[in-house]
Amino acid sequence: MSIPSTLPPTTALGDGIVQIRLPMSGNPMRYINGYLLEDEGGLTLIDCGWKADDVRTALEDGLAANGFALRDVRRLVVTHFHFDHYGLAGELLAAGVPELGMHPMDWRVLQMRAAAPDDDRLADAWLERNGLTVEIPPGEDEQYDRYDLVAPTRLLEDGDRVGRLRALWTPGHSPGHLCFVDTVSGRTFTGDHVLDPVTPHVGLWHDRGRDPLGDYVASLRAVGALETTGVLPAHGEAFPDLARRVAELLAHEAAREAQVIEALATGHTTGAEVAGALRWRRRGDRFDQLTAGHQQFAVAETLAHLEHLRSQGIAVRNDRVTPIRWELRPESDRAHILPA
Ligand SMILES: [Zn+2]
Ligand SMILES: [Zn+2]
Repeated sequence: MSIPSTLPPTTALGDGIVQIRLPMSGNPMRYINGYLLEDEGGLTLIDCGWKADDVRTALEDGLAANGFALRDVRRLVVTHFHFDHYGLAGELLAAGVPELGMHPMDWRVLQMRAAAPDDDRLADAWLERNGLTVEIPPGEDEQYDRYDLVAPTRLLEDGDRVGRLRALWTPGHSPGHLCFVDTVSGRTFTGDHVLDPVTPHVGLWHDRGRDPLGDYVASLRAVGALETTGVLPAHGEAFPDLARRVAELLAHEAAREAQVIEALATGHTTGAEVAGALRWRRRGDRFDQLTAGHQQFAVAETLAHLEHLRSQGIAVRNDRVTPIRWELRPESDRAHILPA
């Protein structure tokens, strides 16, 4: 599927839904979709782009092209805390948007980040404990600062109704990721949980006793079982068949798991070594062809797989050494281990 080089600013999708493409200048994703839904009593906006003047302009132009203004937006809901989905929220609330909804677990992540300004360094230290030391060139991290911290006015839990939407908690890509089902049209807003053709990133960036990949796979299964009339993802364009895409993503994760097991079986023991044995991106790049920033994503993704294997009793992790070493548990021992 090719995307035109100049983005159409807005697309009316029927059923009172408008897609506004919000620029991600300098990022290969190119744009994030803000979706407007007309409701009794005003508009709901799903996701708002990062904090930048060109995003604010694109949003206001998109509203105007459909006969609206910012004051018509009654609520903003964000699928997750990542800055490309949440970054502009502070500005929008300051400009008079009265409501902001998000899942409590992602709000907790934002609060933890605010309380620990060295959070990025904690992630770097965790990756270093897993054998990856990289220098991020100055400026490359800069886009991660494109947000203001602003508190939600409403915490959205699984199953909650918000306007015409029903929230669906789909942890994995982030701990509090939400998809939204439109009760009017039957369409599903999948955020970054289900994208096409991009494979959503699931990484273990901190050692906080979680199994994000286990969460992700369970959330994929849940979403794959939905009856839906179409998929509206946060990046890229709408596509019809959710079950087909979920099956592809599940197959991708299973293939990746097999590659990680193979890397462990052939003597790669640190997170960085296992990542080094895998191929990356759709072109199948070698690990050493990736930029420093992408190497971090690659190792975080590998660690999510390793942690998931550990939670299934297939791998063990030795924390007493530096870097941390991962090994396959002998087959004969595995049957006695209950998954965590
Ligand atoms: Zn995201
Ligand atoms: Zn995103």
